[in-house]
Amino acid sequence: MARLLFSAPPEWWPLYREPLLRACADRGLEVALTDDPAEPTGFDYLIYRPGGPVTDFTRFANLKAVLSLWAGVERIAGDATLRVPLCRMVDESLTRGMVEWVTGHVLRYHLGIDAHLAGQDGVWRNAVVPPLATHRGVGLLGLGVLGTAVAEALAGFGFALQGWSRRPRAPGDFATHSGADGLATLLSRSEILVCLLPATPDTENLLDAGHLALLPRGARLINAGRGTLIDDDALLSALDAGHLAHATLDVFRQEPLPPGHAYWAHPRVTVTPHVAAETRPDTASQAIAENIRRGEAGLPLLHVVDRAHGY
Ligand code: NAP
Repeated sequence: MARLLFSAPPEWWPLYREPLLRACADRGLEVALTDDPAEPTGFDYLIYRPGGPVTDFTRFANLKAVLSLWAGVERIAGDATLRVPLCRMVDESLTRGMVEWVTGHVLRYHLGIDAHLAGQDGVWRNAVVPPLATHRGVGLLGLGVLGTAVAEALAGFGFALQGWSRRPRAPGDFATHSGADGLATLLSRSEILVCLLPATPDTENLLDAGHLALLPRGARLINAGRGTLIDDDALLSALDAGHLAHATLDVFRQEPLPPGHAYWAHPRVTVTPHVAAETRPDTASQAIAENIRRGEAGLPLLHVVDRAHGY
């Protein structure tokens, strides 16, 4: 019998209880599942999302792994009280959601859709014809699970795509870069820049004034990674100066984004409330249960976080 503790904000428990039990039963797993950390049992697995009752892992002496309901694990990757493997959420529904969200926003920019939404005022605005995707430079920061899936979708439209990751990639269907020089090359060719990097010490403020200045004038930015990737003051300055034409931001240093934040009122910013890719209980529960099955069978866990690098 595997003992499972669910620690997340209280509204998540009714959404996850049944799907988790079902996913475990599908695999023939015998489990005891609770959301009460005070139960005097030694828990084997902790199913975790920030904002729940567990903030210190020290007292869970029997724990075999922490299984994150979020793909981004920056809030616990560096937690010194966590001494067991941390697995992050990799789930096909979450990936599909991100592909749809990013594709939609890239196409919005590429096609200039806003120009036609702005004024249904009798003016025949046909002066600007967008290039075909093959002539549109799109840069993608982050080529992980989500970035790779997004790249495949954008490559399907034929965008002039480039990607950037920490480790160099073998040559593939589109140009890839790593390191500082590779980043500079990618930025200089990105009319639309998509960020799908994790929040780590190395990516903090990556998009600062210097890097934003390398983008072509009139570039557009889409951030669905984490808010810490961007120096907010530098981005606002670049937008005010017209160097960047627009930014679509789904993630922020503080969430919810405070009502008085400059991004809300800025005419060149679209704010979306961290909705690019939702974790969906049915499929996320399958991913969690699969790791419990593997743990109980003595198999290597999937998607273990490299805590030295923070993702
Ligand atoms: P992942 O599979 O861990 O991929 C991360 C990518 O970032 C990898 O390509 C990695 O390079 C690259 N990277 C990390 N540090 C780097 C550095 N210092 N320099 C250059 N590249 C670096 O993560 P994922 O599943 O694709 O998810 C990415 C992020 O999306 C998550 O961490 C989370 O913050 C965010 N997210 C947002 C939402 C939302 O709704 N907005 C939903 C889910 C996730 P290597 O390939 O060389 O390792």
